Amino acid sequence: MPTTTREIHLASRPSGWPVPENFRTVTTELPDPGFGEVLVRNTVLSVDPYMRGRMNDAKSYVPPFALDAPLEGGAVGEVLASGDDRLSPGDTVLHQAGWREHALLPVDQARKVDVSRVPASAYLGVLGMPGLTAYVGLTRIAPVQEGDTVFVSGAAGAVGSVAGQVARELGASKVVGSAGSPEKVRWLTEELGFDAAFDYHDGPVAAQLKEHGPVDVYFDNVGGEHLEAAIQRMADFGRIAACGAIASYNDTEPTPGPRNMFMVVQKRITLRGFIVTDHGDAARDFHTRAGAWLAEGRLQHRETFTDGLDSTVDAFLGLHQGQNIGKMLVRL
Ligand code: NDP
Repeated sequence: MPTTTREIHLASRPSGWPVPENFRTVTTELPDPGFGEVLVRNTVLSVDPYMRGRMNDAKSYVPPFALDAPLEGGAVGEVLASGDDRLSPGDTVLHQAGWREHALLPVDQARKVDVSRVPASAYLGVLGMPGLTAYVGLTRIAPVQEGDTVFVSGAAGAVGSVAGQVARELGASKVVGSAGSPEKVRWLTEELGFDAAFDYHDGPVAAQLKEHGPVDVYFDNVGGEHLEAAIQRMADFGRIAACGAIASYNDTEPTPGPRNMFMVVQKRITLRGFIVTDHGDAARDFHTRAGAWLAEGRLQHRETFTDGLDSTVDAFLGLHQGQNIGKMLVRL
């Protein structure tokens, strides 16, 4: 029997900040799964900053979202019906057909996840792509060494909150974070074990970072003023993992680069960008270590939920406005 369901389409490409009119909710019918397919009822959808780039019609490391088609993104859900022995009704799976209530997928695009010890949503955050991003950044891109001072921007977000804690596990002697509200700053220092944190709205980042430097490793989620300030406060031979630049994702003009790039030369800084999907081979190691840290209570995480498919656009916009603590998710 066909399943009536709803999905969110990209109706037009945003210019600058997305607006609700860029999206359209469409009711559709899905057939029963055929041979080699599964039908999944999505329970939690992920909204992530990289999705903003995919809304532009621009060449990048992932193709743009198509207009008048459902958006895509990480999601977890329950298998309702299966046309393949590898998955059974009741299984919880992780897949990329988010932004919709139900997904009809080839079975090899859905991965069964173990929900006996963590909720399914963890596979979208701390044990998912954001967690792996933090781990790759600090083990492969700007490796943390014993005794390092590590600075993380966007520190109360999905990637940043894991990065700060991973840095400590890897031997950092001091972990400093920046975030956008006093509540976030308190969470970092009182619950996540950051040694220091500041609200970047309280004054120039370079001035606030000064008392915590010099910085050996900077995990950059933000770009812009944060990157310039970090370069100014880096130690000689410091390493920067360029993970994201959320401060500029909704800009309509190209963002000027840091004005102090020559300091990269003077200080012999290594600045390296990366994309987590190039590092799938780190996932096993990450899951083993992060699973143990979680079980031992050494890795904390938090999730911010909105409710219902109709809240997905708000969740996505809210992410860019800092409304999340930890991972931003939509509960269906
Ligand atoms: P977050 O959970 O960190 O959410 C985004 C956060 O960005 C907001 O909560 C907000 O927090 C902060 N923010 C928004 N605007 C600004 C600004 N102008 N200045 C400073 N902070 C701002 O998202 P993720 O953890 O999912 O992603 C973090 C970064 O990592 C992004 O840049 C993303 O693109 C990147 N990323 C990169 C990957 C890769 O492979 N390279 C993979 C995954 C993510 P606040 O209140 O603190 O402002």
